[in-house]
Amino acid sequence: MVFAWGSWGHQHINHAAIFALPEQMRSFFYNHIDYVTEEAVGPDIRKYSLNDRAESPRHYINLEVFGINTMDSLPSDLQQLKAKYPDSVIQKAGSLPWYILQMEDKLTKAFKARRKTEILFLASDLAHYIGDASMPLHTSVNHDGQLTNQKGIHAFFEGQLPELFGEEYNLNTGNAKYIDDITKETWHMIQVSFLKADTLLAVERKLKETFPKEKIFRLDSNGNVMKNKFNDPVHSYEYAKKYHEMLNGMIERQIRQAISEASNFWYTAWVNAGKPNLSELDPESLTKRNEENFKKDNKLWQEGRVSGFRPEQEFNK
Ligand SMILES: [Zn+2]
Repeated sequence: MVFAWGSWGHQHINHAAIFALPEQMRSFFYNHIDYVTEEAVGPDIRKYSLNDRAESPRHYINLEVFGINTMDSLPSDLQQLKAKYPDSVIQKAGSLPWYILQMEDKLTKAFKARRKTEILFLASDLAHYIGDASMPLHTSVNHDGQLTNQKGIHAFFEGQLPELFGEEYNLNTGNAKYIDDITKETWHMIQVSFLKADTLLAVERKLKETFPKEKIFRLDSNGNVMKNKFNDPVHSYEYAKKYHEMLNGMIERQIRQAISEASNFWYTAWVNAGKPNLSELDPESLTKRNEENFKKDNKLWQEGRVSGFRPEQEFNK
């Protein structure tokens, strides 16, 4: 089973993005930081636990389906895309970028209407899909290395590695910035990810060639490859460490990109909605109470760290 970025990644992305927001947004989002953090995995729960069939294609885009060389000429507008490609092709490709654009639009409307619950729900979900767009294997047909004899690499890359080494990542991405062209930015994110998919696969193949075969996976007492609760193979610590080193910061960079973009997309929706006053949406006493905690959390954030929540562990350490 494949959870994009795993709980660790998605929850850290949503959580950290709140600290990048300007004050007028930040205090409202911080009041609901637990919700925004938990809901980071909501879209994956719709996909796997509820088996919502409409959900699945929203989490990826298989760019090869359109032909790699045509990427620049790929219509960024869904209507135009539908005019150019048959439905069967589009369905096979997935709808991640278009869904991000739709969510941004809905979030802007929710801000305009000052619908508190909708704002929080849509913002949390949107950040999930932005997280997916920053995960290279969500942009390629070879999403689990199944075409190159690397099955299991998806969960290894996005789940086990951040769980093992993510505590060292610097999650402070600076202040949220206004995005002039949301469509262009969405496709830029996808493009950056797509270019990295090949690299992360090639790096692992190279490592596998030189690494003692019997030491790649963690084995149980019968010598069988251990599996996590989603039935993904568990790699040995030594192998994970080496691969993480060879990736040379790729996972940290991608997670940082997701944090930064999540805050940028939230901020842009709020600005485009006319900067509604969000402090009216919560009781003053709640905001006041949370300010004390915020001071501590913000100090940590300045150092690039976050705390106060525990993502569900998907691999044993
Ligand atoms: Zn997802």
